[in-house]
Amino acid sequence: MMFEPLIARNPATEAELGRVPTTPPGRVAEVMARARRAQARWADQSWRERRAALKRWWGLLSREADALADGIRAEVGKPRVEASSEMAMALDGIRWTVDHGHRALGEEVIGAGWQRFLLIPSARLRYRPVGVVGMIGTWNYPVFLNAPAIAQALAAGNAVVWKPSELASLVGLRLQQTLDAAGLPEGLVAAVFGGPEVGGALVEAGPDKGMFTGGIGNGRRVLEALASRGIPALAELSGFDPAVVLPDAPRDATLRALTWGAFVGSGQTCVAVKRVYVVGDPDPWAEGLAESARRLRVGDPGAADVDLGPMISAAARDRFDATVRAAVEAGARVLAGGMPAAGPGWFYPPTVLLADTPEPESRLAGAFGPVVLVRGFPDPDAAVAAANSGIYALAASVWGRDLRAARDIAWRTEAGTVTINEAVTPTGHAAAPFGGMKASGFGRTHGVLGLREFTQPQVVFTRRPRSFRPQLFPYSPRLERALSWYRRLFHPPA
Ligand code: NAD
Repeated sequence: MMFEPLIARNPATEAELGRVPTTPPGRVAEVMARARRAQARWADQSWRERRAALKRWWGLLSREADALADGIRAEVGKPRVEASSEMAMALDGIRWTVDHGHRALGEEVIGAGWQRFLLIPSARLRYRPVGVVGMIGTWNYPVFLNAPAIAQALAAGNAVVWKPSELASLVGLRLQQTLDAAGLPEGLVAAVFGGPEVGGALVEAGPDKGMFTGGIGNGRRVLEALASRGIPALAELSGFDPAVVLPDAPRDATLRALTWGAFVGSGQTCVAVKRVYVVGDPDPWAEGLAESARRLRVGDPGAADVDLGPMISAAARDRFDATVRAAVEAGARVLAGGMPAAGPGWFYPPTVLLADTPEPESRLAGAFGPVVLVRGFPDPDAAVAAANSGIYALAASVWGRDLRAARDIAWRTEAGTVTINEAVTPTGHAAAPFGGMKASGFGRTHGVLGLREFTQPQVVFTRRPRSFRPQLFPYSPRLERALSWYRRLFHPPA
């Protein structure tokens, strides 16, 4: 049976960029079996050997960085600056693992502590690989969201079978080619290409752990399919990020940062600012945002003087437009943008909405495109309550001069990452754990916690053969007195 190839298109011109053969779903199990065989040998390699291979890949990827950035620009429609910074962040992530992976995965001793009196000896803890990690990826950061996670899974001794998004298949292919060239064992990292049916086949092939990045609806379907097979998973899902603007926030700097935080990647960034909650009068902030939005240069990112590229596809733009219209029908006022731009290309101008009731916001929830909605609140508590009211909890930001007050709000906001006087960029920190709360996902990527997601801890308790260990059977009043003595010594009744 023949499967249609994936046709990669430039979303700014709609021109065909190339074709990538689809992996027949029936072949995914073979790819998995090969990865499983390679993993058994890879797990036995020393850290030095694994590190050397990862370092080679890191070097190759840095040599290919300009070409890959160009590929991201063409296939995803990102301005050159964004495509280039994506490559830098991806390389940072891999480098962190090369430099720090050993320490993060190192053997640990867990002392017996006071429980030695219960005859519990000390233990050694090791982080064992899980086996084969099955990754299903998205398109909006096609290198940054895949490459560092692949490096972490490999560093921990796993194999990886991954499916790049069908909307960034050419970038996925190029990334896999750099892995193929890095001299890793045959079949240890393999990409399979296609849409949801290939993703489904990857789940059915039975990886030892799943990692899904994408929308909440599809994510839940994939998580259910994994759970029904008893496979654990890491889920990086949609956000709808709030920004709480306090009355003492410096106006110009905050407006500049919010404009970028809302419209970077044409708003198709999972941690883009989507809701601006102004404590006080929202009108001047909404007007200010609309003014800066109108100044942004929208166009083909092939040109140097472009701030916003197109949306990823005609379907994504239609879905997004319908969501914006629903918010407007529910009472939001359009201060900038609000309608798709004429083609060719799937452009949508940066859109600023102002609302004075919660209804428009509930219609806009989950919108994945260049839109920001502004609302006013009488006090910070009301803004925090609104920020925490929905199902989304990926990232959030707080803006103000009084850092103590801002931090207090940050700790009360439900989100995996909260930034103060910042947005989006800190989520590229290679060592800080990244991930969502509530419906936005679970598990973490980056740094020590990200690396350990691809491991299973094992403890080995050891008692020296000749050390004292009284026989517990037969039970006696003496043993009972000893236990009672232990309990009272360490847990004296109040
Ligand atoms: P999507 O859910 O449409 O697709 C994601 C991936 O899942 C693709 O590879 C797709 O082929 C695959 N897929 C879809 N349905 C599947 C199924 N039933 N079985 C197996 N595989 C399936 O999402 P998208 O359009 O690629 O990405 C946009 C969404 O991703 C946004 O909601 C965004 O917020 C979110 N996102 C989250 C993060 C994060 O780190 N939390 C990062 C980027 C994007």
